[in-house]
Amino acid sequence: MARVAMHGAAGRMGLSITRILAEGTDPVLAKAIDRAAVAGKDVGLLAGLSANGVLVESDVDAALEGVDVVIDFTHPTASVPFFEKLAGKGIPVVVGTTGFEAEGRAAIAKLGQTVPVVFAPNYSQGVTMLFALAAQAAALMNRGFDAEIVELHHRLKVDSPSGTGVKLAEVVQRARGLDYEKTKIHGRSGQVGARTDDEIGVVAVRGGDIVGEHTLYLAGMGERIEITHRATDRQIFARGAVRAAGWVVGKAPGVYDMFDVMGLERP
Ligand code: NAD
Repeated sequence: MARVAMHGAAGRMGLSITRILAEGTDPVLAKAIDRAAVAGKDVGLLAGLSANGVLVESDVDAALEGVDVVIDFTHPTASVPFFEKLAGKGIPVVVGTTGFEAEGRAAIAKLGQTVPVVFAPNYSQGVTMLFALAAQAAALMNRGFDAEIVELHHRLKVDSPSGTGVKLAEVVQRARGLDYEKTKIHGRSGQVGARTDDEIGVVAVRGGDIVGEHTLYLAGMGERIEITHRATDRQIFARGAVRAAGWVVGKAPGVYDMFDVMGLERP
């Protein structure tokens, strides 16, 4: 039974992970770490569950005693000093925080020299599988099948195409030996002419409360393949991070990602 310390326990992801961990028996939530402002609060109550006796702590060194794995979903300004405190303690880490600059990425690489670290920009198991399936299909159906991507998100999303849509297009083009930057078409309008073999269209749909959908089309003559991932709940990231936390315990030092956790070849 692996004992988890959750760094960023009072945040959206931290509370989501508390709820996921409450569903099972391994790993278990042992420690909750967050800012001093929320210290002393029962993290079960914060997560909308019954009290679980795990109180938020702000003293990192004390909180890390007796834990087997750490999950971090905070902010780069909190994560980097936290990694420095973790150094030398020998505790595996799952890093969910995003937005690291070069200094933060270097701190993760350094940590990976002494402990196993999982570092993934997207912990969804389904999205990870989407990338792997898309790469395989795009490489094997390289001739005569045009690749196009459609992504759908809620009306409040401000960037387009989505980061996952771009990554999916990059994965497809790399699998075909093509350069995404030179072949991408973000939408079409007017007399654009017939499509070329190598281009990849990426189209964004925005509306309502759609959590996130991505479809890769491989359109041939007389048939087409569609590979779709539909997210209906933002808990998918928490579930993947919990899977990663169970996986990383006992691994050799290094920096891993969700492809490693799921036993998939990195596309
Ligand atoms: P949030 O703002 O709701 O929560 C962050 C938590 O970190 C807060 O409780 C905050 O008090 C705590 N924190 C900040 N500074 C701290 C410090 N110095 N010491 C202790 N605690 C501190 O944010 P969120 O929505 O939970 O997201 C957290 C991070 O996870 C973001 O970087 C986000 O982009 C990333 N994220 C990654 C994935 C993924 O799949 N990799 C998915 C969702 C979110």
